[in-house]
Amino acid sequence: MPKRSGGDLTRYSRAIPARLRRAVLERDGGRCRQCGATENLHVDHVLPVSRGGLTVPDNLQTLCAPCNLRKGNRADGG
Ligand SMILES: [Zn+2]
Repeated sequence: MPKRSGGDLTRYSRAIPARLRRAVLERDGGRCRQCGATENLHVDHVLPVSRGGLTVPDNLQTLCAPCNLRKGNRADGG
């Protein structure tokens, strides 16, 4: 089966497709990887796309909103 051309572009995009988001949430047990919270969860890039990170499960993590914000406040941005 040939792959649809352009399908691989997903990994170079900041946008995380819904099914990939779900897969990461499931993998992380529906909990924030930093503090274990189960509410206000976001799927976040470990290495930001702006710094060469890919939108693939290995580079995605589940974070709650407070942890995600803390990360975003780092000096090097994200
Ligand atoms: Zn958290």
